[in-house]
Amino acid sequence: MVEVQTAKASTSKACPICGKPGVERYRPFCSRRCADVDLNRWLSGVYAVPAAASEEEDDLPPRSDEAPE
Ligand SMILES: [Zn+2]
Repeated sequence: MVEVQTAKASTSKACPICGKPGVERYRPFCSRRCADVDLNRWLSGVYAVPAAASEEEDDLPPRSDEAPE
């Protein structure tokens, strides 16, 4: 493996995870690790669906079993 470090003209975007300059191979991330981190975030965002607050029993309209008047 040859790691070429071009000190100048690094036009690649910064890694969204850690802020380091991105590597073309792992664009837009700087490493596979950061790519995994992002993937995990994405997955957890998809699967970790926040349960909607139980508003079923809180928001029920008042029953009118006994009609007023
Ligand atoms: Zn990174």
